[in-house]
Amino acid sequence: MVGGGIVGLATALALQRALGRPVVVVEAEPRVAVHQTGHNSGVIHSGLYYKPGSLKARLCAEGREAMFAFCAAHGIEAPRCGKLVVAADEEDLPRLDELERRGRENGLAGVKRVTPAEMREIEPAVGGIAGLHVPETGKTDFIKVAEAMAADVRAGGGEVRTESAFLSARPVPGGLAIATTAGPLDAALLVNCAGLQCDRVARKCRVKPPIRIVPFRGEYWGLSDPSASLVRHLIYPVPDPRFPFLGVHFLRHLDGEVTAGPNAIPAWAREGYRRFSLSPRDALGTLLYPGFWRLALRHPFTGLREFARSLSRRASAHALRRLVPGVRAADLRYHHCGIRAQAVFPDGRLADDFVIEEGERSVHVLNAPSPAATASLAIGRHIAAIAAKRLP
Ligand SMILES: Cc1cc2nc3c(=O)[nH]c(=O)nc-3n(C[C@H](O)[C@H](O)[C@H](O)COP(=O)(O)OP(=O)(O)OC[C@H]3O[C@@H](n4cnc5c(N)ncnc54)[C@H](O)[C@@H]3O)c2cc1C
Repeated sequence: MVGGGIVGLATALALQRALGRPVVVVEAEPRVAVHQTGHNSGVIHSGLYYKPGSLKARLCAEGREAMFAFCAAHGIEAPRCGKLVVAADEEDLPRLDELERRGRENGLAGVKRVTPAEMREIEPAVGGIAGLHVPETGKTDFIKVAEAMAADVRAGGGEVRTESAFLSARPVPGGLAIATTAGPLDAALLVNCAGLQCDRVARKCRVKPPIRIVPFRGEYWGLSDPSASLVRHLIYPVPDPRFPFLGVHFLRHLDGEVTAGPNAIPAWAREGYRRFSLSPRDALGTLLYPGFWRLALRHPFTGLREFARSLSRRASAHALRRLVPGVRAADLRYHHCGIRAQAVFPDGRLADDFVIEEGERSVHVLNAPSPAATASLAIGRHIAAIAAKRLP
């Protein structure tokens, strides 16, 4: 297994349970869950948004319940706090109707259309003209979840080797000879869950990925009072269906802190979290990829608007007031950012569903964006079933 994020660890657990054979996870960083898993919103998604029948819809529904059960079994806080999706104006209404329909088709029995008065019983400071209440949504700390998964892998006889970066894989009779920065390793099969590096790991396994990872920064604002006190749980906009991102939302975390985010702007370093982080290799990889320019040409104004909001507190506060009118620019401060491993096709389309490719002795997870943390246990089982067929 390459990658000690939540998808890699959940897959290792599922593989170990399905095959009864020990699994070795190699993780480049000194700890697990350092990248996407450690920089997300911490929302256990309901599965409201995803195209019925898609892998995302199926694995999110299955994974959500598995995640609540895993947290309960491991003493990890995971309240089912529910969320409110807010239609800010008339233009949002047809999309809210479609979300309600999708929610029902995806098996969410609790989804309820709410009037402005009902919305304000749930979130007293919210604006908007209509909403959907989704009681199935929850929140947790995915770092704690990933650490518990790593402990379970070890307890089941497997290994999680940190500071051990995958370098290459060479076919040998009966499997693969793998090179890592911490020494060689023999394996019957390799599963690539390397997140932001997954396309590069796939190429090193002689698998040509149909996509390229284009990293997108997702920046969060921290809110101080009085604006923070305007948020009880989770407040989401109606998402723009052209993008797989859910839009900037408000979240009261388990420790009581309130954040708003994430936006979506190109990142010039796949694993650089500072505001002006730059990796020449990563930046050139994006700039020389035709898919990136085709994507930029498809949505020029969206990109510019996201940049403006990233640079200006005032512009961000203006956008946030569509959901919660009382938010003040003075109460926003830069909080942190996460970087999404977004797979982009050469024609500029963003991969919407999870993408899993198979090589002769390898399986590659090439697009596992949100809700992959929620769905991780179900993704793990799905990959274990694929992997089991490829093993001698
Ligand atoms: C801003 C943001 C908000 C999000 N919010 C949510 C949310 O609220 N709910 C939700 O369900 N999902 C959310 N997501 C999505 C979720 O966080 C990811 O889908 C999930 O964490 C992906 O897990 P992963 O294991 O694939 O990737 P990662 O967590 O990135 O793990 C990949 C691992 O591979 C390792 N690696 C890379 N290259 C190598 C190598 N050569 N050798 C060894 N190891 C290597 C990395 O160090 C890393 O630890 C969000 C994502 C972002 C970025």
